[in-house]
Amino acid sequence: MAVDLAKVAKEKKIKYFLISFSDMFGVARSKLVPAAAIKGMQKNGAGFAGFAAWLDMSPADPDLLAIPDPDSLIQLPWKREVGWLASDLWMGGKPVEASPRIMLKRQIERAAKLGYVMKSGVECEFHLVNEDGSGLSDTRDTQEKPCYDQPALMRRYDVISEICDAMLDLGWGPYQNDHEDGNGQFEMNWDYGPCLETADRHTFFKLMTRQIAENHGLRATFMPKPFLHLTGNGCHCHASLWDKTGKKCLFDGKDELGMSPLSYNFLGGMMHSAEALCAIFNPTVNSYKRINAPATSSGATWAPNTVTYGGNNRTHMVRIPDGGRFEFRLMDGAANPYLLQAGVLAGGLDGLINKRDPGKRLDINMYTEGHKARGAKKLPLNMLDAVRKLDKSKEMNEAFGRENIQSFVKLKMQEWDSFCHHLTQWERDQTLDC
Ligand SMILES: [Mg+2]
Repeated sequence: MAVDLAKVAKEKKIKYFLISFSDMFGVARSKLVPAAAIKGMQKNGAGFAGFAAWLDMSPADPDLLAIPDPDSLIQLPWKREVGWLASDLWMGGKPVEASPRIMLKRQIERAAKLGYVMKSGVECEFHLVNEDGSGLSDTRDTQEKPCYDQPALMRRYDVISEICDAMLDLGWGPYQNDHEDGNGQFEMNWDYGPCLETADRHTFFKLMTRQIAENHGLRATFMPKPFLHLTGNGCHCHASLWDKTGKKCLFDGKDELGMSPLSYNFLGGMMHSAEALCAIFNPTVNSYKRINAPATSSGATWAPNTVTYGGNNRTHMVRIPDGGRFEFRLMDGAANPYLLQAGVLAGGLDGLINKRDPGKRLDINMYTEGHKARGAKKLPLNMLDAVRKLDKSKEMNEAFGRENIQSFVKLKMQEWDSFCHHLTQWERDQTLDC
């Protein structure tokens, strides 16, 4: 055992551990374990009933055991006596393959076999809303173009600076915070790192942001499109590949965009599987109100509608801001942090293995000139279409394993059924007098 958590608890004055895992829908589930019991839990895991979470399990299944990863330990900055731990799920003496953190680890292993490490960063956008979620918390935040609005940012200084201070203390290297393009919307950025670390931090960031907002009498939501007329909450992912010696593999100074031939294959893989990956990157019914959306009150959604890429151009699904890295702009705030990273790796690795060609870059404004992108695939219009694409995707089934994709698809189809069993006011208005 590399790290003895019982010893760490004594050194850092940790009284309780939150042994946490992320289920398929990205819901964080935890047990609060007193430090006196952590020795056994570190070895054997904390027990859960898997069916009680969004996992493809039955009530008859044996105990699901969450075995904490000591390297992921984070002392809650707002309650230092609690230590948070990401964990891997086990059952019957084996890892649960259809669980997000394990699914990401498998993709990392596949990349390592090819000689690559993926580093990434995520741009988490969120809205600060009132406690019941019905409206924005700042009623003075009404500018038509509110992006980077200084007074609106400073009215939320206490919340944003507390979250940023926490990231500084944790050594995450936060470097900027801003008011985003939607009223009441913010984004906070911290340094990129190995993709598993980014997924753990992304998971913790959501917990921390919600909690600190709540402590200030507010509510933070990462919902993809909480307000139809405002810009939605994306979760853009910046990714780069490195070899085992620490050399960047995607950079090539001779290329116009600074990208190596390998990077175009990686991009080709992402574009080839984009429609199927939507089920992972845009996993909720609400997600499809963010992508393919009409312009918002600020003038642009900043979300993609078509499978295209460009240079430093934010109207495409993929932006190449400078040499050696991609910005994937498809993902939204509902994406499971682990599956998000796993999806990028799965798509990209397929591109490397099959030498996929992303085609030519487009230098047009996709919001006004999208019709010129002849032959480009449109993104799925709803969750059902995306889930069906994932179900049928040869590449994703190969990358993740058919059974694991089936587990995800099964849960998502249940969610779609649940959505379909709701009668909306819109239907009544449209159909009552038919
Ligand atoms: Mg943003």
